[in-house]
Amino acid sequence: MKYRNIGFILFISLSCLLIYLILLFSLQARLHRTPIQSEIDPQQPMIAITFDDGPNASYTLPLLDLLYKEQVPATFFVVGEAISGNENILREMAASGHEIEIHSFSHPDLTTLAPQQIREELWKTEERLQTILPDYHARYFRPPYGKYNQQVQQTIPLPLVLWTLDSGDWDHPQASSIYDQVIQQVQNQDILIFHDDNPETIKTLKKLIPELKKEGFQFVTISSFLEHASSASVLLIK
Ligand SMILES: [Zn+2]
Repeated sequence: MKYRNIGFILFISLSCLLIYLILLFSLQARLHRTPIQSEIDPQQPMIAITFDDGPNASYTLPLLDLLYKEQVPATFFVVGEAISGNENILREMAASGHEIEIHSFSHPDLTTLAPQQIREELWKTEERLQTILPDYHARYFRPPYGKYNQQVQQTIPLPLVLWTLDSGDWDHPQASSIYDQVIQQVQNQDILIFHDDNPETIKTLKKLIPELKKEGFQFVTISSFLEHASSASVLLIK
């Protein structure tokens, strides 16, 4: 009986060690990915896929897996208060070659805030990003709900980036509706907005990305888009 107990304890301990090693190995593999490479041909159609409101503990990781499998670079406009507990997700985004930009700290309507509060929404998020990715500097800002006024523009020192095609996923329709909404309207040099806190968004992209590839679209991050797209100036508010 005694020996059987020791054997059982040994078995449990070894199983725990094995699970720990597998998790550690998989985390290291995620954090040391070769960045997604994208050669841009400015003569060919291009679109920028962007995600707002993350990082999300449940959905951003499967989304990153999908983007990596498809070798599609994207831009994540993150919310500062969502970062805590999701630090490795941000490290993986950066390691995979995605762009991380700022979407405020607590997702308020910035047009209702005083300049000091608006500044805080930016620097508190910058501070969190800096702690996790000391060499990374966010270059763009997307105001929550796309709402801004002259005071917001003057207070945020980064260019504001909105979108040209709304997937409508914020309203939580089924994946098939999101897919139809995008595929029927998408055009060359669109900036698409999605949200990485929605499982239907991942389902949509599983079908949408291969279809957009078939139609000849290249996928670019916001910086790359602003560098190559001829319509870029109308999308950059500064
Ligand atoms: Zn948002």
